[in-house]
Amino acid sequence: MEKGADVVIIGGGIVGVSIAYHLTRKKLKNLLLLERNLLGEGSTGLCAGGIRTQFATDINIRLSLESFDFWIHFKELTGVDPEFRQVGYLFLASSPETLNLFQTNVRLQKSYDLPVELLEPEEIHHRWPFLRWEDLVGGTFCALDGYAGPHEVLSALVQMVRQQGVKIYEQTEVVGLSIKGDRVVGVKTQAGDIETRIVVNAAGPWASEVGEMAGIEIPVKPLRRQLFFTAPFCLSDKPVPLVIDFDQGWYFRPEGRGFLLSGPLDREPSFRRTIDRHAKVEAAEKAMVRVPVFQNARIAGGWAGLYEISPDRHAILGPIPGLEGFILANGFSGHGFQHSPAVGKAIADLITQGRIPRDVLQLSIERFAKGRTLEEPLTAFKE
Ligand SMILES: Cc1cc2nc3c(=O)[nH]c(=O)nc-3n(C[C@H](O)[C@H](O)[C@H](O)COP(=O)(O)OP(=O)(O)OC[C@H]3O[C@@H](n4cnc5c(N)ncnc54)[C@H](O)[C@@H]3O)c2cc1C
Repeated sequence: MEKGADVVIIGGGIVGVSIAYHLTRKKLKNLLLLERNLLGEGSTGLCAGGIRTQFATDINIRLSLESFDFWIHFKELTGVDPEFRQVGYLFLASSPETLNLFQTNVRLQKSYDLPVELLEPEEIHHRWPFLRWEDLVGGTFCALDGYAGPHEVLSALVQMVRQQGVKIYEQTEVVGLSIKGDRVVGVKTQAGDIETRIVVNAAGPWASEVGEMAGIEIPVKPLRRQLFFTAPFCLSDKPVPLVIDFDQGWYFRPEGRGFLLSGPLDREPSFRRTIDRHAKVEAAEKAMVRVPVFQNARIAGGWAGLYEISPDRHAILGPIPGLEGFILANGFSGHGFQHSPAVGKAIADLITQGRIPRDVLQLSIERFAKGRTLEEPLTAFKE
């Protein structure tokens, strides 16, 4: 194990690896990435891979747009197909309040020239006849949106950063930080201490534990989300979008030859990653409400992962006042996979040029103390 590095990244999920990738693009190579388990074993490997532009705040739309280019050109950049399927995201509203929210969002999204469509129930029925539509009051669809393969993406980036000389150690837990005065000077692992002047906290749902090592409270809570998948099942000859049934708090998308069905999101924080029978029943019931023909599908299995929820459902990015050299890339609240390209670049800019893009400044942890929190109503329902 190295005795020192220019930058140490804690966490081998998509965010840590994306930061390493963008640092190597800026020719910084003396980097260490430490992962206490195996790469991708945190939230990344368990996520649904959703990528969308339909958000309700400027900053989330900008993070999406900035990331989009990367998804589109991923294969050229890495030589690996990220399996980005641009089938679109369809949001469904079955209450006037939700439709109002969607209408406000569409105005914002269109101000970014996004090709978002506000749809009448009849149009939804016409395009996607497998959906129960009688209770719908409208919906929105953006054909740019879709989903990609988290494993494909992560392993391609890992291979690239390794080729660029980044040292990655799995099964290496950071157990403490070394701090002198008001700055970080290293990390402690079971395999020894490492000197560094820059430590990036990319520990996903475990971000607050890493914060505690520095005596800092990072308001990120782990919330379990369960997902289920069906056995092969055909719904349509045409591409099926990722459908968010907003008022039911449920979504589904194609997965292989079957479908991925969302299960419930826990209300109470915990690190539990087991699946429950009642969650499976709930997922099946919601599925049959919106897609009646799903009564003929069989749920073949499921898994659970952890969302890393911040108080205002927005990421927490950048330095922390009073502790030089400690950088946060946390709190993605269920959007960390899709925003990882923009986040990786922003953190790499901060490390190499000492400045973070202006609009990303509003995601500083200081916003909580200063009462400048944001609000992302579209995460009331999360991927
Ligand atoms: C069920 C589910 C569905 C989701 N769907 C989507 C989606 O459709 N689209 C989307 O954009 N996002 C989605 N997400 C969210 C997305 O998975 C996360 O935002 C993203 O993976 C966060 O990446 P990360 O690298 O920050 O965290 P992680 O992937 O969790 O990586 C953090 C890593 O840090 C390691 N670590 C922690 N502490 C230490 C330590 N002390 N020392 C060393 N290593 C440590 C952990 O082992 C872990 O591997 C979903 C999440 C879940 C659970």
